[in-house]
Amino acid sequence: MKLIVMIKTLLGFAPNCEKVNAFLADYMDGTLPEKTAKQFEDHIDMCKCCGPYFEQYRETIDMTRCCGEVKLPEELVEHTLTFLRKNAK
Ligand SMILES: [Zn+2]
Repeated sequence: MKLIVMIKTLLGFAPNCEKVNAFLADYMDGTLPEKTAKQFEDHIDMCKCCGPYFEQYRETIDMTRCCGEVKLPEELVEHTLTFLRKNAK
């Protein structure tokens, strides 16, 4: 299976590293057409450079998503508001 993808890539039937990297953002957004997404996954699967790179990229995205949901502790908000009110006088 992997050999087929490799041959396809060499012949230009499947996206090469450069194209796959261009697809990355769209793939994460889920806006890639199904067929292209499949080609993307096949490439990530067999490519020694894009595989680890993609993993790292995905981890970074997950981290960002996680941190984006962190809420400020109420105490900190209250403290900041008190501080601002004091300084506003
Ligand atoms: Zn690659």
